[in-house]
Amino acid sequence: MKRLFILSLNILCCILCSFAEIKYVFYFIGDGMGDNQVLGAEMYRSAVQGEPLGRVQTLMTTFPYSGHASTYSESNGITDSAAAGTCLATGNKTTNGTLGMDTYNSPLKTIAEELKEQGWGIGIMTTVAIDHATPGAFYAHVPKRNQYYKIGEQLSASNFDFFGGAGFHYPLGKKDDKDVNLYRLAESRGYTIAHGMEEVAAFKDSTINKMILVQKTDDDGAKHGDNLMYSIDQREGDLTLKQIVSTAIPFLEKRHERFFMMVEGGMIDYACHGDDAATAFGEVWDMNEAMQVAYDFYQAHQDETLIVVTADHETGGLALGNSDYTLQLELLQNQKCSAWVLGDLFARLFEENKKPSWESVQQIYREELGFWSAIEITADEEKELKALYKTACKGKSKDTKTMYKTINALGNAGIALLDKKAHIGWTTRAHSAHAVPIFAIGAGAEKFSGWHDNTEIVPLIRQAVQ
Ligand SMILES: [Zn+2]
Repeated sequence: MKRLFILSLNILCCILCSFAEIKYVFYFIGDGMGDNQVLGAEMYRSAVQGEPLGRVQTLMTTFPYSGHASTYSESNGITDSAAAGTCLATGNKTTNGTLGMDTYNSPLKTIAEELKEQGWGIGIMTTVAIDHATPGAFYAHVPKRNQYYKIGEQLSASNFDFFGGAGFHYPLGKKDDKDVNLYRLAESRGYTIAHGMEEVAAFKDSTINKMILVQKTDDDGAKHGDNLMYSIDQREGDLTLKQIVSTAIPFLEKRHERFFMMVEGGMIDYACHGDDAATAFGEVWDMNEAMQVAYDFYQAHQDETLIVVTADHETGGLALGNSDYTLQLELLQNQKCSAWVLGDLFARLFEENKKPSWESVQQIYREELGFWSAIEITADEEKELKALYKTACKGKSKDTKTMYKTINALGNAGIALLDKKAHIGWTTRAHSAHAVPIFAIGAGAEKFSGWHDNTEIVPLIRQAVQ
């Protein structure tokens, strides 16, 4: 009898659970995050911690449901972030470069706009500019993704409740008097701008309806609006994605019965455009930190919360393996800064002295990458680096233009050599058509398992919440 009672109680619970309404959706997008960015990040950390390979896991790979999505766009076998973001926000493919519009430049309604109309609180956050392609895809509708000022105008017109990230790309527009500073425009539309966590703390008790949380800036956003610091380069006091998510959750929960949050790990892509593995893996873990906050929230609201993690495309054609059956990912722990910062160190050295000594170049390699100390450099490898040094001394250095930054040739060569020695391969400095992973946990999560096209993800979220 007692057993029967427990059984019926279980059945009742199951029925009630299946009717439980989803009130909280977390949509994580790792920009440029293919399977190998995730797996590599886990194997790297396992190796560094002396654990068996893959023992140290990110949260997403522990989720009960997973699958893959193809990412090609309407126009290209290999998508850009605008077409991919549009698809992940609307369920429709479009041409590369187009944001929030179809191939005929008609606006497409996004899942965030739909839910906003239904009274949900909406949060859009990223490690890059809040008007960049992925966040922009959720509120903006422009024929060209680089129409940043226009995207910025549409950001505050969306009336979404919370934005978090580095800032606006071009808050002052064309520096034309007709262009209103985008921060002032947002304020005139009822947004409170918080520059860094100290200002968030100061706002705590006041009545704020809508918030934009950005990095602290020197001159009102004109300088540091493009991206947060890479996790590998972060210093105490730098704004992090985890802090943004930790701010957004209580902010939205207090003001809305239901909320939808898109959280982008935007700089995984930036690091992979630079073929910089240690920095990319650091960004995967950085997104994992932010996900932990969402996961903690999920644990307290399991029946009402859905977490979906995916990527817009893979970047770099990252391969774990470049020769035989060896991987030496642990070598990457000798890298102390990103390729961007390393390149800047070399650029500064040559600015200060047109012909610095080879030893001063070696010293930077030693300190930042562990060359000639923790990592053995062969005579041939040294010869190649020295040839680049000699070219630089003649003022003829061929720096590498990547999507988001030109990297000094010596910096670039150092990272490329380290990655090669770790047995990492890169096929491109652009995107690839590799399928991307999907991970899901919570109410409705089972729908996301299996092989999908990226057009199917938004309809699945819609099905889950309606
Ligand atoms: Zn992207």
